[in-house]
Parts: sequence; C-alpha cells; structure tokens
Amino acid sequence: KPKQIAIYGKGGIGKSTTTSNISAALAESGLKVMQFGCDPKADSTNTLRGGEYIPSVLDLLAEKRRVNAHDAVFKGFAGIYCVEAGGPAPGVGCAGRGIITAVELLKQQRVFEDLDLDVVIYDVLGDVVCGGFAVPVREGIAEHVFTVSSADFMAIYAANNLFRGIEKFSNSGGALLGGIIANSINTDFQREIIEDFAHRTSTPIVQYVPRSLTVTQAELSGKTTIEAAPDSEQADVYRALARTIAGHEVSKAPTPLSQTELREWSARWAEHIVRLERSERARPRAV
Ligand code: ATP
Ligand code: MG
Repeated sequence: KPKQIAIYGKGGIGKSTTTSNISAALAESGLKVMQFGCDPKADSTNTLRGGEYIPSVLDLLAEKRRVNAHDAVFKGFAGIYCVEAGGPAPGVGCAGRGIITAVELLKQQRVFEDLDLDVVIYDVLGDVVCGGFAVPVREGIAEHVFTVSSADFMAIYAANNLFRGIEKFSNSGGALLGGIIANSINTDFQREIIEDFAHRTSTPIVQYVPRSLTVTQAELSGKTTIEAAPDSEQADVYRALARTIAGHEVSKAPTPLSQTELREWSARWAEHIVRLERSERARPRAV
C-alpha cells in the first residue's frame, strides 16, 4: 500500500512548487510516485510536465460519462504519475467536490493498485473550511498531512485553521499532522516566528525552505528546481525534505490556538518587532 501524504496551505504559499519538488526528489531516488492535484485550477503538476497542463478528471467527465480512469493519469518528470482532480467553473458548486469524484473514480478502477505506487502526494488548496477540501483529512485518504507556511500572519492563520480541522477529525479516523514545511524563510526573524508558532501548537517543523531565485528561474522554464537546477543548494533542500517525508512514520494531532490566543500571540510579536526596530535604529553605524 502506498504512503499517502497531503500538503495543505493557504493560496499562493508554495504548495505546488514544494509538492512538485518533493515528488521529483522522491522519483529521482527511485520511488514510484503519483502527484494528485486537488485544486480547481488544475495546475499542480505543471512543472512536472515541462509547463504543460493536463486535462483534469472533471474535464474528462464533462466530455463523456464513462471515463477510463487511466486516461486521467499522465507521466511527468522521472516517471511521476500526474493527476489533476479539477473543479467546477469558478462560482459554480463546491470546488471540493472534484476531489471526492476524482479519488472515487481512481479507486473504483483500481488505478492506485495497478500502478504499484510507493507514494501518493496530494496538493490541496485550503484550510479545511469547505467540506470538499476536508476530504483527504476527514476520510483518512491521506495518512499524513503537512502544511506549507511562511512566517506571514495570514499563512500561519490558515495553518492554524487546518490544525483545527485535523484535531476535529483526529478521533474518527482522520489524517494526522506530520509537520510544517516552513517556506520562504530567509531571516532569523522569520525563523523565530514560525518556530514559536510550531512550538505552541506542538508541531514539528520538518524543513526550512528559503525563498530563492533558483525556484523562480526553474518555474519560468516550466520545471521543478530538481529538474532545472539539480546541483543547486535549493535542490538539496528539497531532497532533504523529501527524505524526511518518505521516512516519516508517526503523525500526531496538533494543539491549535483559539482565535483569541492566535491574536494575542501575533500582537506580542508585533510589539517585539517594534522593539527590535528601535534597537536597530539606536545601533551606531559606520558610514
Ligand atoms: P495556489 O494556492 O495558487 O495553488 P500554491 O500554494 O500552490 O498556490 P505555488 O504556485 O507553488 O503556490 O507558488 C506561488 C509562487 O511562489 C510561484 O510563483 C512559486 O514559484 C513561488 N515560490 C514558492 N516557493 C518559493 C521559494 N521557496 N522560492 C522562490 N519562489 C517560490
Ligand atoms: Mg498550487
């Protein structure tokens, strides 16, 4: 049975980039990997396919009623199996429905078994507020959930909401939390903020990933960093992350903060930043 992992996080935080690089690093090391995009935009697997978009399961179902699930699976970099759940047109119905439909179709037609996968990694937009997006957690489709978060408040807020969702389903067979992937961390300060949040929610940080031009460049050429810049430091960061995730065994229920606690926590950091700025300005500088 393949290891089932879900990567959650706020919109635009770096889920697809991180997920695709994890998939690429795992495939490079010889594992059979499927990346399952659970985003109505259906762009999760883009950089695994040279910048090319694949039709989603919902696209195929819109064309004809009986779909061969294997027709929704496309090979990408290093033999990675790419699938996009897709979603309804914006504003029409629940976007999360696509996930349920797509997972069911692949399960019914035994695609997961046929491909003899080692790892399935779901790239999920959202923080478990909408029912559909909760599916990989609630139904225990994924065993381990990781969240991508930067040190920005809105990203941490989304991560905390996800933790609440995980906690809620943790006693009824839901997925548990593997940890935080701290993305776009370039200063000690950002590191301290996310570390403090992790500590308060009893969550491990599995990897610090810096914001890097190598990633930007790779994306512009339609590739993952692993493919476009295999010898870069950034590629090694993604390889280390992939190793940690592949070897990860035990996930836990997090201890999310309440809305009030989170607000008090962020207010303390705001004050701390003001103090730090003052001492920066007071520091004598050479011209
Ligand atoms: P969405 O919610 O829209 O699906 P996402 O969470 O999947 O977004 P990505 O598309 O992976 O986010 O990333 C958003 C942008 O940030 C991309 O242009 C990506 O290249 C960039 N990005 C993410 N992580 C890094 C990084 N560590 N260094 C540089 N750029 C990054
Ligand atoms: Mg994405």
